[in-house]
Amino acid sequence: MELSDIFCPNESCPDFGKKGRGNIVCYEIYGKNNTKLLRCKTCKTRFSERRNTVFFGLHTSEDTIEKVVRCLAEGNSIRATARIMGIDKDTVYRIFDRASKHCLKVLDSLLSDLHIEECQLDELWSFVKKKRKT
Ligand SMILES: [Zn+2]
Repeated sequence: MELSDIFCPNESCPDFGKKGRGNIVCYEIYGKNNTKLLRCKTCKTRFSERRNTVFFGLHTSEDTIEKVVRCLAEGNSIRATARIMGIDKDTVYRIFDRASKHCLKVLDSLLSDLHIEECQLDELWSFVKKKRKT
């Protein structure tokens, strides 16, 4: 993920929601996924790069999210995925909803983060489109 694609999440910051201002800097990298901790130079707010990703706010491990996305990508329904994973279908739906609302840029990082093959992702998107129609 490029820093220029990330905006300040602080709603009272003058640069809130504005990308490519050069106000976002990386000040630390942590964890096994090398998650970047970012800082807005304008308001000094610190936040994780996950703030802007599919994972943010989901109280589910990345491992589970990865399996859920794979499961959906292979054509399983939300209900079936919930059954296979042994988790609540609302949780599956939240992950699906979050994934489907994200732009391609985020999907690119999802792709590299989750090591999903491109063809699987194509399948996921045709699945998403089908679900949206119904
Ligand atoms: Zn800010």
